[in-house]
Amino acid sequence: MARYTEAYCRLCRRTGTKLMLKGQRCFGEKCAIERRNTPPGPHASSKGRRRSKVSDHGIQLMEKQKAKYTYGSYERQFRRFFDEASRLPGIKGANLLVLLERRLDNVVFRLGFADSRSQARQIVRHGHIKLNGRKTDVPSCLVKADDVIEWRKESTKSEYYKILIEKIEDKDIPAWLSLEKENMVGKVLALPAGQEIRTNFDEKAIVEFYSR
Ligand code: SF4
Repeated sequence: MARYTEAYCRLCRRTGTKLMLKGQRCFGEKCAIERRNTPPGPHASSKGRRRSKVSDHGIQLMEKQKAKYTYGSYERQFRRFFDEASRLPGIKGANLLVLLERRLDNVVFRLGFADSRSQARQIVRHGHIKLNGRKTDVPSCLVKADDVIEWRKESTKSEYYKILIEKIEDKDIPAWLSLEKENMVGKVLALPAGQEIRTNFDEKAIVEFYSR
């Protein structure tokens, strides 16, 4: 299965945006963007390499890249999401956001089971999660209203799970999800509305990019 192998912080530096791809590290001083917000590459000196002026198309492309990196999606899959968003009634950009949020790895992240979407992806891929009672190891699988997300019984014996259950109290869960913290069982109460979803990219620019 295709996945990003490039260092995550380079993706942030390339887009000049904190994409929050590395969990707790993103909130600390070690964040590469906080230390050196310049494009990656051999000429990025300590004095900082300037970002060159970009065209409208370049801006739209960058917004699309930010969305892809944020949700860990590859181009073909992202394009499929966009095509699906275009077929649905309503505003394309908002539809795209809702589809991205519905990804199982994103829901695992939103429920607080992982510090980042990449970690959530790994948890799903390694078969630790059940969706509606069945083991599901496809991170891009889409959830729907009333779906139940929980840990497999075998996985609750892991050290990771034991640490997680101790710190789950502090996690903020979005209003469209619920979590029974004692049993770590999450539920999709309703699909989120596009305007409820906070992002670090401009979905309208993505629509413009694909509409050219
Ligand atoms: Fe790295 Fe996170 Fe900072 Fe991005 S936001 S540069 S992933 S530490």
